Amino acid sequence: METIIELDHNNLPVRPITEASVPVIAGDGVGPDIWEATRPILEEAARTDGKKITFIPVIAGEAAFKQTDSYLPDATLDTLKKYRVSLKGPLGTPIGGGIRSLNVAIRHALDLYACVRPIKWLPGVPSPVKHPEKVDMVIFRENTEDVYAGLEWPAGSQQADDLISFVNDRLQAKVRPGSAVGLKPMSAFGSQRLVRMAVKWALREKRPNLTLVHKGNIMKFTEGGFRTWGYEICASEFAGLTATENDSPEIKSGRLIIKDRIADNMFMQSLLRPEEYSILAMPNLNGDYLSDCLAGQIGGLGMAPGANIGDGLAVFEATHGTAPKYAGLDMVNPSSLILSGAMLLEFIGWPAASEKIKSALAKTFDEGLFTYDLARQAEGGKKLACSEFGRAVLERL
Ligand code: NAP
Repeated sequence: METIIELDHNNLPVRPITEASVPVIAGDGVGPDIWEATRPILEEAARTDGKKITFIPVIAGEAAFKQTDSYLPDATLDTLKKYRVSLKGPLGTPIGGGIRSLNVAIRHALDLYACVRPIKWLPGVPSPVKHPEKVDMVIFRENTEDVYAGLEWPAGSQQADDLISFVNDRLQAKVRPGSAVGLKPMSAFGSQRLVRMAVKWALREKRPNLTLVHKGNIMKFTEGGFRTWGYEICASEFAGLTATENDSPEIKSGRLIIKDRIADNMFMQSLLRPEEYSILAMPNLNGDYLSDCLAGQIGGLGMAPGANIGDGLAVFEATHGTAPKYAGLDMVNPSSLILSGAMLLEFIGWPAASEKIKSALAKTFDEGLFTYDLARQAEGGKKLACSEFGRAVLERL
């Protein structure tokens, strides 16, 4: 029997569920390898918690193109919409095709406006920093605006030349003729719905602070707007629950502290004082860079889970790409997809099953069992194939 997960206006399940049907896109490149390692772990974690999860395979990327001549068939988007909560592996960007990025296309088509990436170190995982245990942050990256909106035109094109003429003639700007140009749209609506979701998450999880990360010192109206609109919504919709860094100790007491940092400083802070940052909310491009930088501190891209979330819809996904040079070699680390699956279980109201997976992963690492990426950073330990690593985690559930 199919069970569709219904979500309320806070993206919480409308009622407790014990069965869930979840569409899955295994993805391109290393996608099938990591999905085969992940699937039994999610099924078993649910089963031992008295739950049942059923996966519905759907296609996108190369597999879809071979079968349907489309990289992103409408039927796939319809299924993701129908079942509300899905899981996906990485998708390659078709070269020379009409779609800039399948991942960006899915985010836009389903209006999954927040990319949520928890970055937390698991004991036993080798890390390039001295104290990876100090890193425990959740990034909320705006997914639909900024320079990622897809509004750019090549040098010498009619569109670029028209735009340059307009800004030079009407706005008295000085853009060099013949340049390639792009637009960076950022709105109060887009920024505030992202910050709203981040604040609700922080309050629910009893997190101490939320930082708005921006480059508003230089891009005053776009990135600076993000900062201003972020503070505004905290003051208007979460008055009494939030305070700023400059408020008095009495006002701050027991409230979520909202602060802001300029992006370049935030990169340095994330290395020097990571324990002072908990939730980070930021525009699209800052989020893209900072997610991978923080992932590096906890072991690399193979360890970083994520989700793209909108209102009542969520697609959980491995943060990394298709890693084409490792495709089909049964080599890469499946932990990013395993942890994204654990995040999904928590999202649908099965925290015990989710915790079991994280504990089994930590136990596996603690025993010195690693895929190639971590084995090359670790001193000692044993190198396993992707499928062997998956089985090792399954045995430790
Ligand atoms: P990538 O696929 O993320 O791989 C970059 C490097 O990261 C790999 O060469 C590997 O490093 C490491 N890596 C990635 N996944 C790993 C895993 N599971 N375990 C261990 N190490 C892992 O980035 P890319 O090569 O720039 O992009 C390839 C394609 O993926 C492009 O078409 C891109 O558009 C797409 N992409 C898709 C997504 C997505 O689906 N969300 C995200 C990013 C990129 P080493 O070589 O050092 O071992």
